[in-house]
Amino acid sequence: MSEIKIIKEAKAMQEISEFLRLSGKKIGFVPTMGYLHSGHISLIKKAKEECDIVIVSIYVNPTQFLKDEDFETYPRDFDADYLSCKNENVDYIFNPDNIEMYKRNHMTNIMISNISNKLEGEIRPGHFIGVATVVLKLFNITKPHVSYFGQKDAQQCIVIKRLVEDLNVDIKIETCETIREDNGLAKSSRNVYLSENEKNNAAALFKSLSIGKSLVLQGINDPDSVILEMSKIIKEEIPNAEIQYISVTDNELLNNIDELNNYKGEVLISLAVKTEKTRLIDNVLFSKN
Ligand code: AMP
Repeated sequence: MSEIKIIKEAKAMQEISEFLRLSGKKIGFVPTMGYLHSGHISLIKKAKEECDIVIVSIYVNPTQFLKDEDFETYPRDFDADYLSCKNENVDYIFNPDNIEMYKRNHMTNIMISNISNKLEGEIRPGHFIGVATVVLKLFNITKPHVSYFGQKDAQQCIVIKRLVEDLNVDIKIETCETIREDNGLAKSSRNVYLSENEKNNAAALFKSLSIGKSLVLQGINDPDSVILEMSKIIKEEIPNAEIQYISVTDNELLNNIDELNNYKGEVLISLAVKTEKTRLIDNVLFSKN
């Protein structure tokens, strides 16, 4: 088993990736902000299965956090992440610092209009400019053939797919299913902020999404009645929950579906809920034929 290499400089990573490409290797890339959990690991495993070389980036990108958000306190543990990557036989960790990523005069930003301003983008204005810009930079640095993203961040998947299509980026984007705790809570680095009690209560999110999905599949026409049922569950089971949004949309433009009975295709039910200490997002995606 060869040692993982930790690369901190963009230029060095580019040279390595270029060499690997010229050697005929298929490169898989998993962008992360670290504090790895089994959700991240599932992406890494998929990349290992499908590619010759796997690069994982560990970088907490400041530009995707709003001013009053948790950039400073976002959980970080590079040593534990290194061991997790080692366990999965990751080949390279790209771990730049902010100066390396955003030299002195960084001015170019990627704005994907329309879809970036809905749902998460409405609550977190500018968030997807930060995401799209850093992801495109990371793509240019790691030069992968395939990159892996989690369905947990449904809107991020949509934004990145749009970016790749609109700007002719020659990378295949794969979406991997959401990995959950036994009680249904989606794994997230930010779950570390939750107390045991909050974690137990947060099971209500997936419960409400599952009930929402079954109501749609049973043939309810009006999405508002689905949303109402879902809100009731969350309010009953999570004390002081602030529901920021629950939405029933398509999975490409994130347009609200007004009449479910007239709609055929993929339905995305997504939500964001603020509990006492943290903000949780989750979703279910399913076909309605
Ligand atoms: P993050 O470190 O939170 O930026 O996440 C890095 C990647 O891991 C993103 O593509 C996320 O969607 C994905 N991810 C995070 N949590 C999960 C999860 N519970 N299941 C599957 N993928 C996840």
